[in-house]
Amino acid sequence: MGFYTSRDGLVRCDHCGAPPAPGLAACLYCKAAYPNVAAGVCCPRCNAVNKKAQTLCGQCNLEITRACVFCQQVSPIDLPVCTRCREPFDGAEARLAAKVDAEKRRQYMQLAGKGLGAAVTIATNPTGAALLGKLFDAITDD
Ligand SMILES: [Zn+2]
Ligand SMILES: [Zn+2]
Ligand SMILES: [Zn+2]
Repeated sequence: MGFYTSRDGLVRCDHCGAPPAPGLAACLYCKAAYPNVAAGVCCPRCNAVNKKAQTLCGQCNLEITRACVFCQQVSPIDLPVCTRCREPFDGAEARLAAKVDAEKRRQYMQLAGKGLGAAVTIATNPTGAALLGKLFDAITDD
């Protein structure tokens, strides 16, 4: 049902007689699937069923894929999560920003902790303490 056939050199939908739309995997009007075409993404704007390899809707040119902000994998827009890392697309950018922020803070704390540790080590060592004193003098002299 709904297959495309060639009749008098014209290819038309068996079901509704509509001409085939390039880039689509199913008839735009009656939704009959085209034969030998893998159906990809259903366009969220115009509902056209696009071919699997399409990145833009063959009917309305809407982008029907999106790249994951976490792993850069491109997934069809009708999927709620990334096909590679399973991160939900909803609020992904905010979550990435929070993640980057937390990582920065963690690194900063680690650095601050190390710096503090080094200062304590120097301060508890007599030579180090003298050096530290000189350093502080140098800073306050300026
Ligand atoms: Zn049709
Ligand atoms: Zn569309
Ligand atoms: Zn991902």
